[in-house]
Amino acid sequence: MPELPEVETARRGIAPLITGQRVARVVVRNPRLRWRVPTQLARELPGQKINTVDRRAKYLLLATDAGTIVMHLGMSGSLRVVDASLPPQKHDHVDIVFDNGRCLRLRDPRRFGAVLWTSDPEHHPLLANLGPEPSSDDFNAAYLFERSRNRRRAVRDFLLDGQIVAGVGNIYANEALFAAGVRPARHAGRLTLKQCAKLVKTIRATLDRAIKAGGTTLRDFQNHDGLPGYFQLKLNVYGRKGDACPRCTTKIKHLNLGQRSAFFCPECQL
Ligand SMILES: [Zn+2]
Repeated sequence: MPELPEVETARRGIAPLITGQRVARVVVRNPRLRWRVPTQLARELPGQKINTVDRRAKYLLLATDAGTIVMHLGMSGSLRVVDASLPPQKHDHVDIVFDNGRCLRLRDPRRFGAVLWTSDPEHHPLLANLGPEPSSDDFNAAYLFERSRNRRRAVRDFLLDGQIVAGVGNIYANEALFAAGVRPARHAGRLTLKQCAKLVKTIRATLDRAIKAGGTTLRDFQNHDGLPGYFQLKLNVYGRKGDACPRCTTKIKHLNLGQRSAFFCPECQL
């Protein structure tokens, strides 16, 4: 599943290829994604130029003068920029075709992704209530400390809440908690200010490391096969139940926390 680093890598991969390009037409082969692809897209987008390609949480925002395309890669989505004449494969559901003969092509076998269209991205229901970006100054120790007071939720779930911090997925929350020495099931309200400072640092470092790893895949966005922007990060605890902790060699433990798995070292994390 594409997480924030994969989405950021996709942004960096496609931005130089489509920024400044004018849209000739939109081809929707299957509108039944997570939400139906709106018919306004094919009506209002042609003739528009892509001004910027930004990211907010795990959403890609392609801004034009007439409106903004909001894209989400869901569970299995991937983007590439290819010749529009290249025959589409089975799961290539949407093409945004440009004047230069190239197109931005969304492939999404499981169809949990989204392609939406809005004139007001700031107030779009999917975007309006998002917490700060992990890399932004608004995400800091004092903020995390203040937001966590009196919260009995597990800190892992607290970090997965997009209204607290935008776009931190389960893998990265587990890895950041390991790096900070905090157990996933600990109540968020019991975090100290010092631990909050550590978590801010380790969340950023974990995501940054993954984005750097993704940098090696940037050229793949122009290939028509393979899965651009999916990459394997070396993980310390996630998915490693029973393995030796890389820090102290104690066996990594697994925990069913809510609906999702948590992994931690019982020795290094308190
Ligand atoms: Zn350990």
